Amino acid sequence: MFDALTEKLQNTFKKMRSKGRLTEADVREALREVRLALLEADVNFKVVKEFLTRVEERAVGQDILKSLTPAQSVIRIVNDELTTLMGSTHERVRLASNPPTVIYLVGLQGAGKTTAAAKLARYFKQQGRQPLLVAADVYRPAAVDQLETLGQQIGVPVAHEPGADPVRLAQLGMERSKKLARDIVIIDTAGRLHVDEALMTELARMQEAVPAHETLLVVDAMTGQDAVRVATAFHERLPLTGVILTKLDGDARGGAALSIRQVTGLPIKLVGTGEKLDALEPFNPDRMASRILGMGDIQTLIEKAEQNLDQEDTKELAKKIGRADFTLDDFQAMLNQVKKLGPLSKIMEMMPGMGQLAKVKGQIDDRSVVRVEAILNSMTKKERQRPEIIDGSRRLRIARGSGTSVQEVNRLLKQFEEMRKLMRQMKGKPGKSRLGRMPFP
Ligand code: GDP
Repeated sequence: MFDALTEKLQNTFKKMRSKGRLTEADVREALREVRLALLEADVNFKVVKEFLTRVEERAVGQDILKSLTPAQSVIRIVNDELTTLMGSTHERVRLASNPPTVIYLVGLQGAGKTTAAAKLARYFKQQGRQPLLVAADVYRPAAVDQLETLGQQIGVPVAHEPGADPVRLAQLGMERSKKLARDIVIIDTAGRLHVDEALMTELARMQEAVPAHETLLVVDAMTGQDAVRVATAFHERLPLTGVILTKLDGDARGGAALSIRQVTGLPIKLVGTGEKLDALEPFNPDRMASRILGMGDIQTLIEKAEQNLDQEDTKELAKKIGRADFTLDDFQAMLNQVKKLGPLSKIMEMMPGMGQLAKVKGQIDDRSVVRVEAILNSMTKKERQRPEIIDGSRRLRIARGSGTSVQEVNRLLKQFEEMRKLMRQMKGKPGKSRLGRMPFP
């Protein structure tokens, strides 16, 4: 996710940090690079311009340049402003005080609407709610079957009636929700190839018959500025309440995620991060900013752990992450635990400083995680507990034992040290945005 952008920003900040004292010219040069990185990430040029103006106003001030850690201050300002750009706070899907809550999913064909409908139903079901899916995408022949199959997989009923028109299907959804005592009705509407008049009129007619509590636009993050244009066009015709941004897992650039809120005023409420039905995450601007800056996302990791591991495991994991005397032994134990959470490469991305470690040619790759594990397994317990004793000859032995190279062992030790530094800084700073506020390495 956002690999290309993250790498460029990290290079810029690395250069800045290596300087110690900064002049105004240094800061301007760094910001020029940030600007280029954002433009290359396909962020809307107006958004980039306004963003840079805000950062510059705050970053070029005398106080910052005189501070002891000017680079950190600049990075923190970039982090803050990235968060603001994406909407500051996490906006939830609002549930009606008088159920059922009616949620329309709208969007173009292929955006991931049907998949998002099933993901959303699963998400609510996990929270103890009783969702109902309505298959109202009557133009894409396979969409109804697809939704019915997905509904079966997650154990959520799907309302449909062959031959019925979309308005009738919305009404059918309401009838079924009463009959089956369902408190959330998720309507998968028809997509088209382009935004067109017929589509908008039909959606408006459906909402006249069955008013919406939420109308969420599903857009494909990988389409960058096209996604932003689609959002603008839909929002002109239909009062949208938010966006579900799909396929973020395949989005190396981040242009849509960083522009939609500013351009349309619509909050991104959820993001799709994979084809599987559990790959849906609430969108948290502060956590996303810290991921973009390569700072990881411990908070989401802990939440995932809470959903997927038993309580003891979770407590253990949270305790280890917060500990100042974090050792390679703990790291190894943690790797074994987080393996239960999904593909390791994805999890590593959320751990501060670890994304870089698992990267091969800029890509995070499960095989490189296996090599990290092999290195850890070739160390003695004492070495894992006190990595500082690992001298040259030990490094050679470990590299041989794990079938890796001394360079790889060095890299692991170095990244581990950085990770530990980050963790120390996080210690004693609880709260949901602790990463957002924390000093950078
Ligand atoms: P619809 O036409 O908008 O209903 O689109 P679909 O739900 O059928 O999705 C189109 C394709 O995108 C399918 O192959 C999905 O598996 C895939 N897809 C949907 N969401 C995601 C996502 O978050 N990540 C990835 N990698 N693929 C996704």
